[in-house]
Amino acid sequence: MSSSAPDPERQPGERPPDVADALRQREQQAEEIVQFVDRTSFASDEEGATGEITTADQHPADTSDITFQRELDLTVRQMAERQLEAVAAARERQREGTYGICTVCGRPIDPERLRVRPEAATCIDCQRAMERERQGGPR
Ligand SMILES: [Zn+2]
Repeated sequence: MSSSAPDPERQPGERPPDVADALRQREQQAEEIVQFVDRTSFASDEEGATGEITTADQHPADTSDITFQRELDLTVRQMAERQLEAVAAARERQREGTYGICTVCGRPIDPERLRVRPEAATCIDCQRAMERERQGGPR
């Protein structure tokens, strides 16, 4: 069994060296999702696309024609748009030198989390706390 040499240049880097690249990739992903949903969901609308997107919180009197698939598409689209906003915000933090620091508690965000979600603004603990709040909290 021959063990390969350990990388001598390996740095204990606190942040990924290619944050900008990672952010650009996430941005592209999200843009593709938005475009895909627009093509597949709104193009096949029998009633004709209005060119306007109603917000999800507004429930028109008659929602029976809104299919589950369409709601799903809108949800996916909204998530992608939120991701685009998150990427823009992450670039802002990068400029200000606060990238990788949780915007809620001020502690460093786990580098492993940043590798998966380079646009993350909060550490995993704060993220979970916010998600719990959004869901109405534990009973
Ligand atoms: Zn935090």
